[in-house]
Amino acid sequence: MSSNPPNPSKPPSPSAPPNPLRSTRLWITLGIILLANIIITNVLLAPAQPTTVTLPYDVFKQQVTAGNVISVTTTGDAITGVTKTPVNETKTGVTATHFTTQRPSFADDGLEPLLEQHGVTINAKPENPPPPFWETLLLSFGPTLLIVFGVLYLFRRIGNASGAGGLLGSFGQSRARLYNPETPGTTFADVAGIDEVKQELQELVDFLREPQKYQRLGGMVPKGVLLIGPPGTGKTLLARAVAGEAKVPFFSQSASEFVEAIVGVGASRVRDLFMKARQAAPAIIFIDELDAIGRSRSAGLRIGGNDEQEQTLNQILTEMDGFEPGKGVIVLAATNRADVLDQALLRPGRFDRRVTLQPPDRRGRTAILKIHAAKVPLGPDVDLDQIAGATPGLVGADLANLVNEAALGAARKGETVVSATDFFEAIDRILLGTERHLMLSPSDRERIAYHESGHALLGLLVPGADPVRKVTIIPHGGALGVTVQSPIGDRFNYGEDYLRARIIGALGGRAAEQLVYNNVSTGAANDLQQVTQIAHEMVVRWGMSPKIGPLAFAEDSGSGLGMVRPYSEATASEVDMEVKRIADECFADAMRLLTEHRSQLDSLARAVLKDDSLDEEQILAATGIQRQTPAGGGENGATQAAASVSAKAP
Ligand code: ADP
Ligand code: ZN
Repeated sequence: MSSNPPNPSKPPSPSAPPNPLRSTRLWITLGIILLANIIITNVLLAPAQPTTVTLPYDVFKQQVTAGNVISVTTTGDAITGVTKTPVNETKTGVTATHFTTQRPSFADDGLEPLLEQHGVTINAKPENPPPPFWETLLLSFGPTLLIVFGVLYLFRRIGNASGAGGLLGSFGQSRARLYNPETPGTTFADVAGIDEVKQELQELVDFLREPQKYQRLGGMVPKGVLLIGPPGTGKTLLARAVAGEAKVPFFSQSASEFVEAIVGVGASRVRDLFMKARQAAPAIIFIDELDAIGRSRSAGLRIGGNDEQEQTLNQILTEMDGFEPGKGVIVLAATNRADVLDQALLRPGRFDRRVTLQPPDRRGRTAILKIHAAKVPLGPDVDLDQIAGATPGLVGADLANLVNEAALGAARKGETVVSATDFFEAIDRILLGTERHLMLSPSDRERIAYHESGHALLGLLVPGADPVRKVTIIPHGGALGVTVQSPIGDRFNYGEDYLRARIIGALGGRAAEQLVYNNVSTGAANDLQQVTQIAHEMVVRWGMSPKIGPLAFAEDSGSGLGMVRPYSEATASEVDMEVKRIADECFADAMRLLTEHRSQLDSLARAVLKDDSLDEEQILAATGIQRQTPAGGGENGATQAAASVSAKAP
């Protein structure tokens, strides 16, 4: 089980202005207006139809002869007319002054003289009246309109599919163009715990503020700066802070967003992004996740989108070569793996400046906590330094998340301030995952209790192991039980003893099950994964196997398939043997220690079964073991420990 909580989501990127043609509301409104129009013109404004009777033709002629007809209107052989006194329709009994009748086409009856003779006004209408105006319009333009809208719709779909999210015009534009660059309000004051890095970037700020000053002295200002660091260490935050400090526009784009399904789109987006930034200069372009496109091309096979990545990458290189230094555009790019980047990116004139961000140490964590805790009301018992001490390995994003979780927890409880308890509960939630309610059988609970007690007891017994902070058999996240060990201080360099202690501790769960039940379960899957990883790295990365010697054979795990292994088959099998030897030795140690301390194992398991969770004091009390004095780690290496969590998976 990993102890690093997921990163909180990044600040939302500025959204694109809504494209008027895409808004459904607009379409609905248009539709309603059109409908209303049709109803009004055809129903409401239509002349009221008077009651009309239908007369047989001979009755009509009788009425004319009787002098009762005032006027007639003919449309072909159909006749409508008005009478002086209402006439009666025999069939229905309706009487009305308006009538219609149909003149037989064979009639040759001298109707016209008859009408004239009785002074009837005669009107005539063309047989096929011209269709109304709107009908003509619709008939002539309709098909064209349909085609136009169809094409627009299609392009929109393609636009969406390629991520451009727009109509024709946005084809191949970078999304950075679809929203206006922002000038972030972020400043260096919002970034804590990485002061050295801030100093390095201060120079960029100065340059962006007063480009002339630097050019006058002929100084070379970097075009590209690579921010390297694990996720959540504040790379994006720093880039925004540089723009915010210099008060220049900030164009932000994730490299993975350049690359879409359609080849060539990425390159044209890059072109566009740089053009826009040049127009806005001085400005900052921030490219996140540069390794998504900037992976070394020599690293053999790459999966998917090969051409497209290459073209996009080349375009970035071309653009960076293209602009003269001093134009005032600086490209900041973030990656968590500089080692997999294409060498071409790192050449002078490109990303030649590199800034590395490390997970913060205790002081840094305190400073970061201070920034984020300023936004919540803190209880008097909260000691941020103490919290920083309990969170080794957490990065800025985790700490921001921690403060948020603590505040949420306090709100759930209806408290007015966020107390120390809220913080420690939040740390547990982040480290262990949320509690789950599972119905476990008594025998399952007992087995889990022994498994976790095995981890915990070995954590106490093996010299150099990280202190055991907590044991629980309450299921958390994907784990049925958890043992938390965290170092006293930050560690940056590990001795072989420490690594072996980690392996022995991780095997403690399996060993306890073996010892107590004389059989094993699936519960140790995660533990074994950790064991394999540490043992493997000891052999191939850290040169801790006498057989292999002081050589590093670690594969570049980032380059994916196709990597040529830099050693022979014979060495490979020797590596496997050495990894197995280390694991076997450690398992034997674990079995031996637990056998020797069987009574302590039993009492610890009983205590966990009784209370579900034990903290450090309770664990020491249950086993009767004295607190260890910490074995110190120097502050000279590169890696850093997170709290290690041994979890029993279902
Ligand atoms: P990255 O880009 O390295 O993955 P981000 O810059 O996106 O990390 O960090 C995410 C969030 O974590 C930031 O918005 C900020 O709230 C917090 N954070 C990270 N590092 C720091 C720091 N050094 N100081 C203060 N807050 C930080
Ligand atoms: Zn375990």
